[in-house]
Amino acid sequence: MAFDLDMIKKVYDRYSTRVAAARKATGKPLTLTEKILYAHLSEGDAQKAFARGVDYVDFAPDRVAMQDATAQMALLQFMQAGRPKVAVPSTVHCDHLIQAKIGAEVDLNTAKDTNKEVYDFLASVSDKYGIGFWKPGAGIIHQVVLENYAFPGGMMIGTDSHTPNAGGLGMIAIGVGGADACDVMAGLPWELKFPKLIGVKLTGKLSGWSSAKDVILKVAGILTVKGGTGAIVEYFGEGARSLSATGKGTICNMGAEIGATTSVFGYDEKAAIYLRGTKREGIAALADTIKEHLTGDAEVYANPEQYFDQVIEINLSELEPHVNGPFTPDLAWPISKFAAAVKENNWPATLEVGLIGSCTNSSYEDITRAASIAQQAVDKHLKTKAEFTITPGSEQVRYTVDRDGYLGTFAEMGGVVLANACGPCIGQWARHTDDPTRKNSIITSFNRNFAKRQDGNPNTHAFVASPEIVTAFAIAGDLTFNPLTDTLTNEQGQQVKLDEPQGLEMPIKGYAVEDAGYQAPAEDGSKVEVKVDPKSSRLQLLDPFAAWEGTDLTGLKLLIKAKGKCTTDHISMAGPWLKFRGHLDNISNNMLIGAINFANNTADSVKNQLTGEYGPVPATQRDYKAHGIGTIVVGDENYGEGSSREHAAMEPRHLGVRAILVKSFARIHETNLKKQGMLGITFADPADYDKVQEDDSIDIQGLTSFAPGKQLTVVLHHKDGSSDSFAVNHTYNAQQIEWFKAGGALNIIRKQMAN
Ligand code: SF4
Repeated sequence: MAFDLDMIKKVYDRYSTRVAAARKATGKPLTLTEKILYAHLSEGDAQKAFARGVDYVDFAPDRVAMQDATAQMALLQFMQAGRPKVAVPSTVHCDHLIQAKIGAEVDLNTAKDTNKEVYDFLASVSDKYGIGFWKPGAGIIHQVVLENYAFPGGMMIGTDSHTPNAGGLGMIAIGVGGADACDVMAGLPWELKFPKLIGVKLTGKLSGWSSAKDVILKVAGILTVKGGTGAIVEYFGEGARSLSATGKGTICNMGAEIGATTSVFGYDEKAAIYLRGTKREGIAALADTIKEHLTGDAEVYANPEQYFDQVIEINLSELEPHVNGPFTPDLAWPISKFAAAVKENNWPATLEVGLIGSCTNSSYEDITRAASIAQQAVDKHLKTKAEFTITPGSEQVRYTVDRDGYLGTFAEMGGVVLANACGPCIGQWARHTDDPTRKNSIITSFNRNFAKRQDGNPNTHAFVASPEIVTAFAIAGDLTFNPLTDTLTNEQGQQVKLDEPQGLEMPIKGYAVEDAGYQAPAEDGSKVEVKVDPKSSRLQLLDPFAAWEGTDLTGLKLLIKAKGKCTTDHISMAGPWLKFRGHLDNISNNMLIGAINFANNTADSVKNQLTGEYGPVPATQRDYKAHGIGTIVVGDENYGEGSSREHAAMEPRHLGVRAILVKSFARIHETNLKKQGMLGITFADPADYDKVQEDDSIDIQGLTSFAPGKQLTVVLHHKDGSSDSFAVNHTYNAQQIEWFKAGGALNIIRKQMAN
């Protein structure tokens, strides 16, 4: 599990030179965000980056982290690269597939059984390729990363939206799709459009019931779920320096809920305390040597309006505890207004379950503050009214808080400790309820609270708050209770009030753990066999895609002309299909089943030109493939918008679609298609979309002289013998044309590795 001090040293060695060059080139002082980004630019991309916001820029991240659901396809693809080891330090974390039902031990054993083939695959592929493997029960990816791998001034990508959690330790950490993780592990650069910058100035100091969670709950209320889109949020000011590193992690984690690319805090004494406390004194000592570069320049923080695109100021001394929800994390209520909001909106006031923990809020500080409330329930003879669960973020935290007696306190209050995993946060929760049709309320210290997120029940009103507020509500069982001002009746009929929470930033006796659940990779993985059962329905090794045949594409059949919105969810649906995300052939049975066919305004019903019959898209495509006939998919504007899921590009490629012709592409999907060796082209004149008919056979000409900026020609042969011909555009650069010719980017890397 050892962090890589040499790697961090190398990052810091180039830091000062890069920052000085950037200051000179831009002629101005720099924010922390700019410094970290400039320090991680791929060689040659500096000028594009300095002209902020104009273009996508290539970066070289220091680390990759993957959770078990998204890691499957990322690693199956990585195996195609033919590398003996990953190009940058990488880890896999088994946290998403454990269902919370009874309690930690039973649930963990059930998960090990149900997901055995996935865990065996991930353990063996990690062992072979030099990847650190965190077993089921070891903890949640973001907490484990914060405890072990995050470092100030670093850059990490992770295959999970809450990867920004590591910003609490001063890292630019960004959530990405599996294809991006695969690229970086294979040694390719990673591109990002240079973000906008939002500055949040924190003044004052937290006290009483208010906590770091309330900072992000308030920011979410100000910026809303869209306000951070395309931006990195940088926190600074004396208030920022007063927050613990784990509290900062909570704030950065939940920055995902405002759509931010990521969030970050500067390196300070609190970060150093956390690094030392988690046995990483070496990193703190190294960071101290360049600490002026691990925070924004003083001129920037003195006049933030001149350097950030937007500035928000929050006085921590005046910040009230918040409760956000229901159904959206940006509906922010200061606790003094919450009871009235519950009554006015007729939300169910009876609280059925309080849930604390998750990757967002399970630090030692969080647990001790919540436990100080739980202890009062015991001492003051209060009977806990709602169900109450605790999800530790890592085995290290669980072991330490257990050793220090806090889990015992929760048990006395009636709490149930769940496995160190995502569980209820991601809907892996077999909630016990007598009537799912009843409108009901739950409150969590997690981050997301969209309808059905936790228990799949649209009648559940989920609210989000700090762990100490959640604990107080669980005791009261009533959302109109204000723990700051109201009293509760105890079992002896007395009126009692809860005192303010008390917590400890770090364990006095230090962190401890018996078995952290880490498996180090083999030194030499060449003999390790990757375990995939050929009969598995969830996992399938990939075969390389075929190279281009060297001729124009002729006689392609129109598979579907999709009408209107066609997101990656229309192309590769989620929900029940996610269990096949490691099995390309099986998940391909969802290909384009959500897209609307222009010819009959129906989803998943297209004409098979070989039979004249209408049938589902995947079955029709498989029939063409069986007959050795290539096909083309035609689409509308912004084709492939939405999540960056790589399956939406891999499935058509796997099933034999040869080209995607659309009015315009969502950029990430277009890049994903290119990486898979697919031809993605756009109508030069969008009106030509109307010329495409249901029974067309289609040629694509000009591929033998395929070159950047040079149009190709599409010829439509209609059923009545007439034809149309028009120009189409593409955005392939020289390297991407090589990807197309080789049948995919990984085929090229494999060839290079073999030489
Ligand atoms: S605990 Fe929740 S937010 Fe955190 S990684 Fe797991 S599912 Fe995502």
